[in-house]
Amino acid sequence: MKELFIASANAHKIEEFKHMLEPLGYKVKCLNDLPKLIDIEETGETFEENAIIKAKTISDQFNIPCISDDSGLEIDALNFEPGVQSARYLGHDTSYDYKNNVLIERMKDQTNRACRFVCAIALCVPGSDPVVFRDTIEGTVATEIVGKKGFGYDPIVYYEPFKTTLANVSEEQKNSVSHRGKALLKLLEYLNENPI
Ligand code: IMP
Repeated sequence: MKELFIASANAHKIEEFKHMLEPLGYKVKCLNDLPKLIDIEETGETFEENAIIKAKTISDQFNIPCISDDSGLEIDALNFEPGVQSARYLGHDTSYDYKNNVLIERMKDQTNRACRFVCAIALCVPGSDPVVFRDTIEGTVATEIVGKKGFGYDPIVYYEPFKTTLANVSEEQKNSVSHRGKALLKLLEYLNENPI
């Protein structure tokens, strides 16, 4: 079975990648399966750059094919914040309840409420240039926190086709339209045509 590493230790992400890639004949391995622990700093200015930094570091160091994703929330009226800082916005250790309430407050007088989740997935194969698959889900910033499902900024992202926030729908419903779900499908299509 062909092995594909994912440059993540996030159990939820690893499961999602496994679920999609194993039917294609790939054995998905993660950072915890590497011979030594490795900490990669996300120093890029775009989601694409960060995804490539993570996948390329592992691919180069261990001479193996590796994928990595980077994602976050962009709010147009806030100069696209929190953007690549999404996980670190207002500090790594602050709760999402706090982050979300601050964003709602910062948005209170804004008429342009457009926002989107962005996901970039990089694939680095030794001897080839990195390839990146990017997708988004467009929403608007809600005026209050709604829903208890999902994670992160889901409770403040209102998605018009669902007439509610992304924290108020099932995981399956969200994945069918999400930035990560759609970027992952692009990766799968690519791997179908260009097996490694
Ligand atoms: P990373 O891609 O693991 O670096 O994390 C990106 C950060 O963006 C997460 O910690 C969340 O704050 C946010 N984020 C990315 N995707 C989603 C999503 O689907 N729902 C809610 N928040 C998200």
